[in-house]
Amino acid sequence: MKILTVIGARPQFIKAAAVSRAIEEHNRKGMQPSISEVIVHTGQHYDHNMSDIFFEEMKIPRPNYSLGIGAASHGAMTGRMLEKIEEVLVQEKPDVVLVYGDTNSTLAGALAASKLSFPVAHVEAGLRSMNFRMPEEQNRILVDRISTWLFCPTDHAIQNLNNEGFSNFIGKQSNSPKVVNTGDVMCDAVRYYILHAKPSEKIHALIDNHKCFYLSTIHRAENTDDRNRLESIIKALDEIAADISVVLPLHPRTRNLLDEYGLFPKQIEIIEPVGYFDMLTLLSRCKAVFTDSGGLQKESYFLHKPCVTLRDETEWVELVTHGYNVLCGADKHRIIEAEKGFINSSIDWNSQLYGEGHAAAKIINEVIRGYLS
Ligand code: UDP
Repeated sequence: MKILTVIGARPQFIKAAAVSRAIEEHNRKGMQPSISEVIVHTGQHYDHNMSDIFFEEMKIPRPNYSLGIGAASHGAMTGRMLEKIEEVLVQEKPDVVLVYGDTNSTLAGALAASKLSFPVAHVEAGLRSMNFRMPEEQNRILVDRISTWLFCPTDHAIQNLNNEGFSNFIGKQSNSPKVVNTGDVMCDAVRYYILHAKPSEKIHALIDNHKCFYLSTIHRAENTDDRNRLESIIKALDEIAADISVVLPLHPRTRNLLDEYGLFPKQIEIIEPVGYFDMLTLLSRCKAVFTDSGGLQKESYFLHKPCVTLRDETEWVELVTHGYNVLCGADKHRIIEAEKGFINSSIDWNSQLYGEGHAAAKIINEVIRGYLS
């Protein structure tokens, strides 16, 4: 059986690593059918510490195809990817095309496959922020609609699909979608890689220098493309960092925009984006997290760190309803209040919102079942 995986952005490397490991394990145990995985890297993220480092650390098989399509507007990027992925699909003729999350690579991979009638499996299906202006939300909705397998991380994600009428399609169209709660592959990744995550010397030294620190990431377009929002977040973190250090591995886009806006953080400790092992180390040692990242919100929960989310809404609603995460948008005062209050509140971490770390194996088993039927 041939699985073709389309990835291109940092969070997808981490999710795909968990599934590639499950494929390897399936083959190692001699289970049938044996699976070959063809990896297509679109090039959406291409800097060494946004891409290669993840392949090296997590031992993800090298991409069979590197399309080199990055740094373009949404439409141009998606269009170029669509064309190139189509060529690869025609050549490879996979049994299933695996796509992850909500990026332009996800949309291009799913659309190219669907138009050629290759079944699409969407990992992280059913997530909704209910903010249709987000490019990620547009991608999620479109990809879900053309996928054969919708691998949802939670029951809430399944509910989102039902609210959009998915239950009406099941059994009533030729490639009837299959909606399955598999748990979250990022839970698999954290549980496995935390045992192997040796930090670099740089991060080791940084942690030695900080008895107590906060970890932050900022990259989402709604924050970075709006000068006022970015300024407000930076001012809040700068104020917080006057008392407790704030370490910010800075996304290259955010760095460029800070320069363009003439915003120069004074207290925040800005570092280059880090690899996954360094990230897991920083996460496990920090006091709390300030982020607009989807993945980091969950990783904070997996590693029992309160998370202040720098967005007005989140797809990971269960983190908020369970009190692990607070939404502060870009509001300076709310962010500072959360640092004083929420972060120091007592939180019961005793729950398993995203499965038990076997999502990748469940995904592979479902795909095999479909292939054999
Ligand atoms: N991450 C990382 N290094 C960094 C910043 C993030 O390894 O410098 C990881 C993070 O731990 C998470 C993933 O990248 O697993 C999240 O990616 P990102 O925030 O870019 O995307 P999102 O999750 O918001 O789609």
